[in-house]
Amino acid sequence: MLTYDILIVGSGGAGLYAALESRMEEDLQVGVLTKVYPTRSHTGAAQGGVNAALANLDPTDTWQDHWFDTVKGSDYLADQDAAEIMTREAPMVVREMEHWGCPFSRTDEGKIAQRPFGGASKPRACFSADKVGHVMLHTLYEQGIRHGVNFLNEWQVLSLMHDGQRCQGVTAINTQTGRVHTIQAKAVILATGGHGRIYWTRTSNALGNTGDGTAIAFRAGLPIKDMEFIQFHPTGLRRTGILVSEGARGEGGFLLNGLGERFMSRYAPEKMELGPRDLVSRSCETEVREGRAGPEGEVFLDLTHLGRERILERLPQIRELCIEFEGVDPIEEPIPIKPTAHYSMGGIHTDLNGQTSIEGIYAAGEAGCVSVHGANRLGGNSLLDILIFGRRAGKHALEYARNNSFTPVDTGQEEADTQMIASMMEGESGASIADIRRAMGNLMAEKVGVYRNGKDLESAVSELADLQEQFKTVRIQDKTKAFNTELVSALELKNMLDLAEVVAVGALERKESRGAHTREDHPERDDGNWLAHTMATLGDDGRPKLDFSPVTITEFEPKARTY
Ligand SMILES: Cc1cc2nc3c(=O)[nH]c(=O)nc-3n(C[C@H](O)[C@H](O)[C@H](O)COP(=O)(O)OP(=O)(O)OC[C@H]3O[C@@H](n4cnc5c(N)ncnc54)[C@H](O)[C@@H]3O)c2cc1C
Repeated sequence: MLTYDILIVGSGGAGLYAALESRMEEDLQVGVLTKVYPTRSHTGAAQGGVNAALANLDPTDTWQDHWFDTVKGSDYLADQDAAEIMTREAPMVVREMEHWGCPFSRTDEGKIAQRPFGGASKPRACFSADKVGHVMLHTLYEQGIRHGVNFLNEWQVLSLMHDGQRCQGVTAINTQTGRVHTIQAKAVILATGGHGRIYWTRTSNALGNTGDGTAIAFRAGLPIKDMEFIQFHPTGLRRTGILVSEGARGEGGFLLNGLGERFMSRYAPEKMELGPRDLVSRSCETEVREGRAGPEGEVFLDLTHLGRERILERLPQIRELCIEFEGVDPIEEPIPIKPTAHYSMGGIHTDLNGQTSIEGIYAAGEAGCVSVHGANRLGGNSLLDILIFGRRAGKHALEYARNNSFTPVDTGQEEADTQMIASMMEGESGASIADIRRAMGNLMAEKVGVYRNGKDLESAVSELADLQEQFKTVRIQDKTKAFNTELVSALELKNMLDLAEVVAVGALERKESRGAHTREDHPERDDGNWLAHTMATLGDDGRPKLDFSPVTITEFEPKARTY
């Protein structure tokens, strides 16, 4: 049995920052386990920026402005104490990243460059051209190596183990050998990222963003919070959903409909293209629904007026993606776009230190929900969230591991997981992983998308239950042990189906429109009944069960949200 004092699952920004924090000046065994090579984590795909009120571009910016923008952006569902911590500490962590060697773009005076982002009252997104996540992830990985963090690469966690009160560890499959192992740990930090892939056919997310940690926590009896809130990013490439960063609008890009009109003047006359993402995505969809789309049901992002030099300096990766995946050079012509499923506001419920309801089990980053993003996240706030709350979870786990002993663990879960895999490997015929996945993605995009209504959501819930039944008949055709990617896909699909159900059930239950959750049949925000977090747990019947918990309001009373 492998043993660690602290086991971190996931090597994106949240996991690596947690690892650094828990590794610093300590003689504890800290391991980071990740299903992909660390620097392939989705954090590396982040393009646009990380928010911090450094006031390098606008000297009047303050962390309090950032705090308010975050709460307003969340449609007042964020917990204001959590948002306060995040925005107050933001300048410190961004400087810490800088001191660790993160190569941010610079102003003429040599300060960290900042750009405007959606829903922000001041320009505060710190960036590195359009590759900020890439440089952050590599900086954190280098520091991890330097500080002796122990990596288990290409291992996939299957289950969490606890005795109802305290953490025992996890089970995980080593994909290089196909063997299931028990890993004992005093503390486990789940930093497994988001679940955008439940919208399989229309998402900006990496293939591995299948919500494993969130689904595993849910099946282990932990509550998962606000799962109905899925952010659609307005500017996904038309045919693939690949992201064109908000940085493109931050640099001055316009949104045009099929008639060539700058349509945002209808929806956000003041902020225009730099309205928050929920609003801009709805605006794009409305243009399409009302018949003002381009030939393939798209709208357009026009950068041509920015000029060649600025595009090459500030948005080089965006240009490459547009040429490669749409055959369009943004220097010459507008980019065809459609909203794309992008970010999971919901996740594993935690306190301000990343602790869940079981001692020693933590969650951080997109897998967790503390909650700082409420019903709608602002661009640039997720990279910040993963640093701040990855750090806090690491710090707290370090204290916990220092002051607690191991909880005994038996190998029952390892046997159960080994058996579960063996039965999926037996036999040949059954439902196809690819078919179920595609059906799930299509139905989520059509019925649990930007606009939602009771009738579609009811049918989504029942179709997902059917897909769960079909999944039980899936049999793995590839019988090899080493690097069995078909098995990996099956395990991921089960996680996605469980979470898709929670998202659909939560969306059906929440009878109001707030942030990214827009109900055509309940178009108003309803603070009287719905200013609350939804908490989903696994019911005895194997289906999600919903409860509610209050939102923490400390400073900003909810008011109408206009831009
Ligand atoms: C294209 C794109 C652009 C973005 N741009 C921005 C931006 O400009 N600014 C911003 O603030 N935010 C941006 N975001 C959002 C932000 O990048 C993510 O929310 C954030 O990076 C998530 O970090 P994380 O550490 O929580 O998880 P991730 O970086 O997703 O890492 C998850 C880790 O968990 C591991 N893992 C998952 N499941 C398992 C398992 N079962 N067993 C073992 N390991 C597992 C993976 O291997 C991986 O290492 C963007 C997102 C996308 C998709």
